[in-house]
Amino acid sequence: MIKGSVGTVTTQYYHHPSPLVLESGEKLPSLSIAYETYGKLNRDKNNVILICHALSGDAHVAGFLKGEDKPGWWDTVVGPGKAFDTDRYYVICSNVIGGCKGSTGPSSVNPATGKSYGAAFPVITIRDMTNVEKLLIDHLGIRELYAVAGGSMGGMQVLQWTVSFPDMVKKAIVIASTGYSTPQQIAFNEVGRNAICSDPEWNGGNYYDMKSNAAPGPVKGLALARMVGHITYLSDESMHAKFGRSLQEKDRIGFDFSTDFAVESYLHHQGDTFTQRFDANSYLYITKAIDYFDLTKDGSLAKGLAGVRAAFLVISVSSDWLYPPYQSQEIVSALTANDREVRYCEIRSNYGHDAFLLESGQINYLISQFLRRTVVGDVMMRDVPTIEEGSTTAVTARRLINLEVNHLPVLSSSDQLVGIVTSWDIAKAVAKNLLWLDEIMSKNVITTLPDEPIESAAKKMEEHSISALPVVDPDQHLIGLITSEAISMLLGGGNS
Ligand code: SAM
Repeated sequence: MIKGSVGTVTTQYYHHPSPLVLESGEKLPSLSIAYETYGKLNRDKNNVILICHALSGDAHVAGFLKGEDKPGWWDTVVGPGKAFDTDRYYVICSNVIGGCKGSTGPSSVNPATGKSYGAAFPVITIRDMTNVEKLLIDHLGIRELYAVAGGSMGGMQVLQWTVSFPDMVKKAIVIASTGYSTPQQIAFNEVGRNAICSDPEWNGGNYYDMKSNAAPGPVKGLALARMVGHITYLSDESMHAKFGRSLQEKDRIGFDFSTDFAVESYLHHQGDTFTQRFDANSYLYITKAIDYFDLTKDGSLAKGLAGVRAAFLVISVSSDWLYPPYQSQEIVSALTANDREVRYCEIRSNYGHDAFLLESGQINYLISQFLRRTVVGDVMMRDVPTIEEGSTTAVTARRLINLEVNHLPVLSSSDQLVGIVTSWDIAKAVAKNLLWLDEIMSKNVITTLPDEPIESAAKKMEEHSISALPVVDPDQHLIGLITSEAISMLLGGGNS
């Protein structure tokens, strides 16, 4: 096995036998989902990371398929020791519905006719894609996703997951994406679709049965669509750097309409090779799904994201003009308005939109920091000394001194957290001659949960000028204590 590689992998298939009702109201009688997994699912099934792919991606994220020497499309960040560390996490990626890489799409056979769906395939949305991913996750017996991650259209699916299934997603990583498709994005997609539909070989979407060497299907239109798309994935800077004004296999311009410049030749090559791996109808359906993507509610992204619960990492790329940084910043603002935990970073890169696939150094660093981020449960003190409700201040003071602690959570006879008392409160008791714990303890206890990030717990303590937070379970039972001292040691020690 190559170091840092998941090695040889195989694509698996889940056949979902029941009909799927789509967002449009149309029904798909049954469907297949192509997927790959890497790493090991742990006993609690809580180390799962779902990766969602972009427009032309597939389920093959990492490693090598048998007989192939080209690794998966995000192999730079998925594998042992990489950001999506397969020694720790169980990573899943599936091909989207509507695609052409193993999951049901327009090129699949329609069971009603025995022929490819073609244009009879129903229009799908990003929400349909995530609903199908959920079917796969359910099938695998997984109830919670430690993280969902993706760039571009993958980022849209991540956002949709946090909206559709808020209780299932703990961490969300959205890269070079948006909360809604903009007119410019829709416009570029429409040019691509038009290129395909204007190709006479598209034939209203029904070309699968007629394909031959002489009639290869709408490859000219698809190549043109890819050429336009590809330009939007690059940047002015990266095109200068890659091609300049270099001529293609000639030393002077031709004064004709043959290929003059290297960039023209490159685009033709990109267009042509794309037709060997992608289906024109899938391009139509998937770009339509992207166009329809809009998580705003009453025109507000903050309203649209009101129910999300995950902690977010949002990454944009400085030179991305297809999904410019302002769109990521809108996501961040909407999450912040909802008091959600969010980290934002704009990657400095000249690669344009494609940087999410190419800037593996920066992406690896940001994602691994975010995924390994410490939560309260990782660092809290467990066997916490407590005091019983109804004690005297004298008993409380003795316990604080004997145990050499500054805080004692106060428990009721049924072990419920009912207060907290500190050395500060004992000083108050002495000054005012108060004899009972009940008179000095703080009853409105500010608490934290084990999965709260330590940065957020620290912020809570700072805001309330307190130095400890009892950690409770959903039934208000005490399971630990975290102090500002322990947190500052961790943060000061460079652990994030
Ligand atoms: N920084 C010191 C501390 O945290 O104990 C002293 C300042 S603060 C004004 C002290 C008060 O905060 C005490 O009355 C204590 O009972 C209360 N307190 C400490 N931790 C608390 C918590 N998690 N929730 C509510 N009150 C708390």
